[in-house]
Amino acid sequence: MSGAAHPAAFAASLLAAACATVGQPRGVVDRLYVFEVGECHAQDVSRWTGTAEASRPWVFANHCYLIRHRHGLLLWETGFADEIAAMPDGLALGDSIRVRVRRPLIDQLRDIGIAPGDITHLALSHFHIDHAGNSRLFAGATLLVQAAEHAAAFGPTPEKFGYDANGYAALRGGNHVLLHGDQDVFGDGSCVLLATPGHTPGHQSLLVRLAGRRPLLLSGDVVHMQSNWQQRRTPISNFDRAMTVRSMARVQALLQEHGATLVIQHDGDSNRQLPKAPAWLD
Ligand SMILES: [Zn+2]
Ligand SMILES: [Zn+2]
Repeated sequence: MSGAAHPAAFAASLLAAACATVGQPRGVVDRLYVFEVGECHAQDVSRWTGTAEASRPWVFANHCYLIRHRHGLLLWETGFADEIAAMPDGLALGDSIRVRVRRPLIDQLRDIGIAPGDITHLALSHFHIDHAGNSRLFAGATLLVQAAEHAAAFGPTPEKFGYDANGYAALRGGNHVLLHGDQDVFGDGSCVLLATPGHTPGHQSLLVRLAGRRPLLLSGDVVHMQSNWQQRRTPISNFDRAMTVRSMARVQALLQEHGATLVIQHDGDSNRQLPKAPAWLD
């Protein structure tokens, strides 16, 4: 599938984006596809809700999103690694978390006629394995990453941030665009990366504008579940709790400003309202 942005055109769009703000929408993306890319069965949800809630099991959904724009294809997140789909019992993370993947992402992309090499832009909210698991497939895409996140993920101590650098080693040496705040990806306000640090040092979220519905704000891990959103709770392992709460407040303000709907990526209910690939939103 064609549609790759010419590097010079993309550089020009970045230049234009430097002058743009999240408050000046002018364009819409063509399509948004939603993919299920694993499920995380945790025995004790209190790790994510803090100590306020009693220990009980929880299932975290996991999704990634493909945005088709006339100037390129942006993949937002890559899910858990496709290899987990072949493991009969899923992947155990420690003794209290089990990950299951029903269908590899690469197969789901093939269903809609897309090969990994067709992806022109890759952006992750952050580099935990449920987001960066298949990133090696997209090493040829331009990686849009906050500078603080890049320093954490590719610096000397990625494990300090909960990262498994081997999982995304293929991205090293690729075309990385280091961001210092919000970034209007295609220069027309249709697709804006939002700096929402706190879960990790350079965490980001994504605002997407479609022609036929209210804008969607894809959370990343700025929040994991609806109850955490309502109560402004954060996981105990977050990089910086106060920073996360400030980012949640920022997301709330942006939702109001743009009349946008929040999609909590790890919340099953939040994603249930969205059609899954091969269907799409436009
Ligand atoms: Zn995370
Ligand atoms: Zn996550």
